[in-house]
Amino acid sequence: MRFASLGSGSEGNGLVVEAGGSRLMIDCGFGVRDAAARLARLGLAPGDLDAIVVTHEHSDHVGGVAAFAARHAIPVWLTFGTLSAVGERFAGMERVYGFDSHDTFAVGALEVRPFPVPHDAREPVQFVVGDGSVRIGVVTDLGASTPVVERALSGCDALVLECNHDATMLAEGRYPQPLKARIAGRYGHLDNAASAALLAALDTTRLRHIVAAHLSKENNTPAHARAALAGALDCAADWIGVADQAAGFDWREI
Ligand SMILES: [Zn+2]
Ligand SMILES: [Zn+2]
Repeated sequence: MRFASLGSGSEGNGLVVEAGGSRLMIDCGFGVRDAAARLARLGLAPGDLDAIVVTHEHSDHVGGVAAFAARHAIPVWLTFGTLSAVGERFAGMERVYGFDSHDTFAVGALEVRPFPVPHDAREPVQFVVGDGSVRIGVVTDLGASTPVVERALSGCDALVLECNHDATMLAEGRYPQPLKARIAGRYGHLDNAASAALLAALDTTRLRHIVAAHLSKENNTPAHARAALAGALDCAADWIGVADQAAGFDWREI
């Protein structure tokens, strides 16, 4: 199995997982041409994707999905809640599939296991994707950890984990108070310390890759995120990867 990111952050997200000749993209927050260019950087064409699976209806995740999927005839999977929020964008498209946030489904050789997360959307999920031997857990938008989240992410071979903000930078930063409250709230985004606490609660005995994702440009730095996660794992900070908004990250092999 291998995985790579097209970019990560509040301006757009997309992550590709590939195994056994099957390939899916989690979210597409980029425009049609931008997404194709970002895939090309990874050596992929749009037609190489077997599905796009969507976490929730925020535009940095679903914003580019309908146009990209329609243009390239790619099947799309969304929760019924996400469909209720943005389903009209997919009207007339044939291969659009709803799923329940607890129901596992398959994309070719890939097993896709969604799990519900606290976040301010209709039925937001994040995913664990497996191929029968290894698993990657991807969590980009999460207000707070829960036992369901910890069970889903325990024992993964790779993790992409939201480190949205540094709590002090957010509190002392220039965002208006209501936005600060939304981001720091239970249905907002994980700060570095909360992300580290989540990581520390997991079974990480199989973990071979960890990448911090969805970093705020305004309220975080890669060094802050790395330091927090390295503290949880008791490892060197440079072992922690960081997903960049513009560059994403290159293929990682599990
Ligand atoms: Zn987001
Ligand atoms: Zn979101």
